[in-house]
Amino acid sequence: MADQKRTTCPYCGVGCGVLVTKQEDGSVQIKGDPDHPANFGKLCSKGSALGETLGLENRLLEPKIEGQTVKMDEALNVVAQRFKETAEKYGPDSVAFYVSGQLLSEDYYVANKLIKGFIGTANIDTNSRLCMSSSVVGHKRAFGSDTVPQTYEDLEKADLVVLVGSNLAWCHPVLFQRLKAAQKERGTKVVVIDPRRTATCEIADLHLAVKPGYDVLLFNGLLNYLAQNGAQDSVYVDNHIEGCEQAVAMAAEQASDYQVLARQCDIALADLMTFYDWFLKTEKTLSMYSQGVNQSSQGSDKVNSILNCHLYTGRIGKEGCGPLSVTGQPNAMGGREVGGLANMLAAHMDFTPEAISRVKTFWDSPTIAGKPGHKAVDMFEAVHKGEIKAIWIMATNPAVSLPDANRVRKALETCEFVVVSDCVQNTDTMAYANVVLPAATWGERNGTVTNTERCISRQHSFKELPGEALPDWKIITRVAQKMGFEKAFSYETSYDVFAEHVALSAYENEGTRDFDLSSWQGLSREEFDAIEPIKWPINNNPKDRFFADGKFYTASGKANMLAVDLKAPKHTPTAKYPYVLNTGRIRDQWHTMTRSGLSPRLSSHLHEPYLDIHPDTALKEGLKKQDLVKVESKWGEAILRVKTCDTVKPGELFMPMHWNDENSAHAVVGRLVNPVTDPFSGQPESKHTPVNVSKFQPD
Ligand code: SF4
Repeated sequence: MADQKRTTCPYCGVGCGVLVTKQEDGSVQIKGDPDHPANFGKLCSKGSALGETLGLENRLLEPKIEGQTVKMDEALNVVAQRFKETAEKYGPDSVAFYVSGQLLSEDYYVANKLIKGFIGTANIDTNSRLCMSSSVVGHKRAFGSDTVPQTYEDLEKADLVVLVGSNLAWCHPVLFQRLKAAQKERGTKVVVIDPRRTATCEIADLHLAVKPGYDVLLFNGLLNYLAQNGAQDSVYVDNHIEGCEQAVAMAAEQASDYQVLARQCDIALADLMTFYDWFLKTEKTLSMYSQGVNQSSQGSDKVNSILNCHLYTGRIGKEGCGPLSVTGQPNAMGGREVGGLANMLAAHMDFTPEAISRVKTFWDSPTIAGKPGHKAVDMFEAVHKGEIKAIWIMATNPAVSLPDANRVRKALETCEFVVVSDCVQNTDTMAYANVVLPAATWGERNGTVTNTERCISRQHSFKELPGEALPDWKIITRVAQKMGFEKAFSYETSYDVFAEHVALSAYENEGTRDFDLSSWQGLSREEFDAIEPIKWPINNNPKDRFFADGKFYTASGKANMLAVDLKAPKHTPTAKYPYVLNTGRIRDQWHTMTRSGLSPRLSSHLHEPYLDIHPDTALKEGLKKQDLVKVESKWGEAILRVKTCDTVKPGELFMPMHWNDENSAHAVVGRLVNPVTDPFSGQPESKHTPVNVSKFQPD
């Protein structure tokens, strides 16, 4: 149909296909794409409300310098000049880009190329650092590569699905619908491991409300139980695994007394043993995990403790069994592909001497970053210290979402030069910008995204660019040209960027890396436009399931089991801050609500910021339902509405992460959250901040 476009939803990492049909009155009809393998026509509340968020209210349409509207060319000149001067005067590490899982792969690619290959620093990180970087580390340590072994189809083939730190029902609703349907059809057992009794527990056969931070112990106990009950796949372990003995020994040392373990994890012993027994006896077990695992000072170890149990039993890379990390954002995976993280180079390559030389030659770079840069939290700390003097923030709102947001704001306040490019105006972060640049939004962008199951899909534009807005790749390209890199940044369309990205992924690859787009080399523009959703490996490779042959991307070709030891969160409750604050998403909002907040329908679900608090805790603190409560941590405070409920345990609290200065200045989540990060992944501990609460008394 001529007036119909196939694209994908810009919200969560499920990456649902969307059909957009233009109506005669100029409006558009939004429907799920029945042919997209992520959703087969389904959409959740957020996806189906996309049509309500397409208006121009709240759009940033013109660039501004120090609050004054200017022409795009003038703004880009200033950005190029200031970044060039800063890098020349203070060295390349004095500049940084902080980007987003909202960007398309082509945007990510150009940003990464400019800063790493032409400015010469790896100070580029993404808000996906907050969502899945612990999984990246876990994968690399176990598999030698950041490869997601399983796909969504495995949800429907599994007999047991273990959801760890994942409120699938609210955060990845279409996957939840798929699981629910599979459960109805084949009786799939579902175990939910989460300190809270979330909406996902509606379909749980068993809910383990684990003590926050104790997942490693829980999975070490499982590994020990599997070892005690002869569940080792000896042939598989002998041929394909290293480190098994040490991992099992650590598990035995730490977790052999299940009674003690159950007490430590705050789980009933019978429930714990039921979970262990189900896992032991169910070959087709899929373990899905998300931010509850990743957002922790021990996130990477938590991931490896889960992977250990699958490697030990040989349950990986097979139909219906294996680990599946679920990403939060629509293109978190695309960012991993192009290297849009401070610790990756490009095309899924690390900072090895061979890769650096390979990429430098390919890009014909005058200079190239030789080592990883600052990860998100450290990046803003370097801004705070004055080491980073110019930062460009693209499509994200760190003044709300980063931990210790008050310090982030101070850092931005004192930074010499701050650029923010975004599709919306007046974000909390923009208040600190010297230059703001209007970027394209969903419906105006053309390119590719990759979802949780590493399925690459096309996003197609169906709307004209309003005002002076441009796609992010184009804004960066024009800045790069103005910095003097015209030849290397001569892209005219997103297809040109995509073609180069394909060629780099194939360059000296020869199947030795998991990410290889070589079969797309030479693709025409028309073929690019017609790309159907496709999962890696996209080549005509008989190995259509990663790791099915027991071969991994480590030097030995074997996977690693890691001996992981429980480490308590760095900040534990004290007399002054006696409660543990957990944070997360709600069903109908996305990130800091800059787009989803435009839909009245979505805003009616939960219309104000709140604090989930157990009735016993509320009683102890003299709070009752609907009161306003002040929540205070060592880092900041928030004012929230009390919601008494037994979905959180006594002593534990939960607040949503979405509200911002514009719609509720006293409920900015980042102001409360502690800035501790996982030492390997740099992912913040957003699910565990000690706080106190008191009834809010307005002056
Ligand atoms: Fe969009 Fe995620 Fe909902 Fe799918 S599940 S429609 S990708 S928000």
